[in-house]
This record gives sequence, C-alpha cells and structure tokens, in this order.
Amino acid sequence: MFELDPTHDASLRSWVPGANGHRDFPIQNLPIGIFSSAAGTQRAGVAIGDQILDIPATLTAGFFSGIARLAAETASGSSLNAFLGLDPEVRNAFRHRLSELLQTNQPDQDKLTRHLHDSTSCQLHLPAVIGDYTDFYTGIHHAENVGKQFRPDNPLLPNYKHVPIGYHGRSSSIVPSGIPIRRPQGQYKAPDKEEPSFGPSQRLDYELELGIWIGKGNELGQAIPIDQAWRYLGGFCLMNDWSARDIQAWEYQPLGPFLAKNFSTTISPWIILPEALAPFRIAQPSRTPGDPSPLPYLQSPSDQKQGAFDIRLEIFLVTPGLKSKKLSPYRLAQSNTRYMYWTASQLITHHTCGGCNLRSGDLIASGTLSGPDATECGSLLETTLGGQKPILLPSGEERRFLEDGDEVILHAQGVRQGFQSIGFGPCSASVTA
Ligand code: MN
Repeated sequence: MFELDPTHDASLRSWVPGANGHRDFPIQNLPIGIFSSAAGTQRAGVAIGDQILDIPATLTAGFFSGIARLAAETASGSSLNAFLGLDPEVRNAFRHRLSELLQTNQPDQDKLTRHLHDSTSCQLHLPAVIGDYTDFYTGIHHAENVGKQFRPDNPLLPNYKHVPIGYHGRSSSIVPSGIPIRRPQGQYKAPDKEEPSFGPSQRLDYELELGIWIGKGNELGQAIPIDQAWRYLGGFCLMNDWSARDIQAWEYQPLGPFLAKNFSTTISPWIILPEALAPFRIAQPSRTPGDPSPLPYLQSPSDQKQGAFDIRLEIFLVTPGLKSKKLSPYRLAQSNTRYMYWTASQLITHHTCGGCNLRSGDLIASGTLSGPDATECGSLLETTLGGQKPILLPSGEERRFLEDGDEVILHAQGVRQGFQSIGFGPCSASVTA
C-alpha cells in the first residue's frame, strides 16, 4: 500500500525560506493544487512553506524526466483530473522528484527560485472539475449523538455496522476555502407551528469532514475489489458540509438530505497526496469487540491493518464580537479521522460494488467526524444539543447555530512521534445574509 520512504524522513530540509517547520507545508508534505498569480492563468502548483512552485514552468525548464515527467505533463492544464487519474507509482515518482528539487544542497536552487510564487499574492482554485460528490456517514460518534436526539434508547440504526451509509450529493456548489457562504432560503416547519414557512434558515450549521479525492476511475459495471481500492485514492482534503438543520428536518423523509445540504460545500484547495499521509496510517480502530465482521467484499487484512488515519482535526469560530474585541478564534471542538467507522478503501469498494463507475476528480466525504467526548463534536447540532444548550463565547456572545458574519475555520494535522507533522492548509468561510 503506502510505504514509508526517504521523502518522509524527518531530517529533510528545504532551501525554500520558511518551509522548515512550517505547520502545514514542510518538504515532507508537497500537496498539489491549482493557483493563479496576479496576472497569470490558472495552473498547477505545489505548496512548500508559504511559497508555490509553478509546475508547468518547472516542467518547461526541464526539471522533470522519465516517469516523473509523464506525471508533470498531466498537471499542465487548468485542472488536475488527469493527474488524479495516474497510477500511484507514477504519482510517487513525481513526489520523489519534487522532494529532490526542493531539498537543501539542490544545485539548481537559483533557477528554481524563479518558479516560486508567494502564496499570499496568489489565489487558490478548485483543484479538479468535480463530476460527482458522495457524502458518507462514517463518523460513528456523530451518528450516535444525532441518533440519541431522536431515539435515546437505540441511537444507531441496525444497518450502521454492516453497510456504509451515504447519499449522492451536489458537486456544482462545492467551493474552495475563502468563498463566503450565503445563508440559504428554504422551507421549514417550526415545531410550534401547524404549517411550514419559507425564509432564511434559522439553524445554519457546519459539518467537519474528511474529503477523499478519487484518483483512477473504474469502468461502468466493474466493481473495485477491496484489496485494489487503495490504488484508486487520489488524495485528501478538509471539507465543511454546511447544513441547514431546519430545512433538513422538514425535507429529509423519506429520501434523505436535499436542499439542506446542496447550497454550498467548502473544501481546502490543496490535494494532500496519499503518499504524504503514509506516516499517519493506522489500523482500523473504530470496530470494538462484539461488532459484526464486515461482509467479505469489505474485508481485507492489509486494509484493516493500515487503512485508517490518525489526523488531528480542529474547528474554530470567529464571530463579529470576537473580532471587534480582538479576541482569538474560539476553538469549538477537536476531533480525529480515527473516528471513521469505515476506511476510505471500504467506501470506494462499497460505492462500486453494484457497478457504479467513479471518475478521476470525483469527491467522497467521510461524514461528520465527532469523537466520543462532548468537546469533540463535529457540528453545532451536537455541541448545542439541537440549539438547547448555547455556547457562551469569551466576547459575551451566545451561539446555538451560526449567525451572519460568523467565520468557521477547519484545521487538520498529521502528528506522529519521529516524523515531521504536516497540515492540510486552510478550510474556512464566512456566512453572509
Ligand atoms: Mn455531511
């Protein structure tokens, strides 16, 4: 699967100023994205510290050869769908070459410097044309917390530990970090009213999720076996699956979420390559003794041994009151990707088991990732118990759900003893009226 190699060595240093010890993008990470500088077109870049290495320019200057060159050529256009479709071996050759180019003692440092851009003066775009988006529900503590609000004695539905639950989402409204989110209008029914009404959602919420980019696609009718599923992973991002709880509660039966979720979804724009996350892979932790074994089509010893991730997650809130009083962003929760009940490979295999074809650049979401503790809730629905228990902020403000002017910021960081920590970069957006 994804093995440790010299690109993960914690002692590697980069000649790029500010890259060493960077919280998100040290030389051990090397995520790829689509950026534009002030006058330039949209093109592929790799994040290193607070700089972006221009891939088409580096390719034209002759810095890639062999297999790494083939990979760089797929990253020459304005989206990364073709790059995502590469075999893992080809993608990894590209990663190894980038690591060489950006390491200290690189003789061509001066020539390469010309192809670096200061990220603060660049704009990040969606990295791929997202054909389809699927939202799963793998956060078992989220499923339990939400289930408890409706069924205190029996929070998990009987299918939960047998079948990965998901639904087909909306890809057209996925936006990169930084784009403001408009509070949706919609239909909802207040509990004390007989009739539904139409207007701005009163119960706007966030959802903390891991995004999974599909790499290679599969042919229609051809299922992806569980032992092969890792080869179809293209990368990872953070995702805020904004949710209008009042609209959701009224519309979701019997077919599931619709307008409550499709008005906007925010993602972090850098694709964290699967190879970069090798140090943070762990055994599938969320199954406890007594849980049913997955059916054979979802079972693979190697996937159960290293198919899950230990990535720390955090949610911060900035409100108009916190900002005007110059108070720091308020940490709403911390969580972890280890709370996924199903691995990324299990989601890919399950998605395709009936013959559904996935395509390069499709996006899969983990579902809200909450932990077992009250400080680990991935949504306000859980933190405030559906709005019953407001959060008291240091500014004196209260929050049951999001208000206009609020900004939600998600963070993710892989941390492991003996390895360099890496992050996902920003995933944030403000709510507007
Ligand atoms: Mn969701």
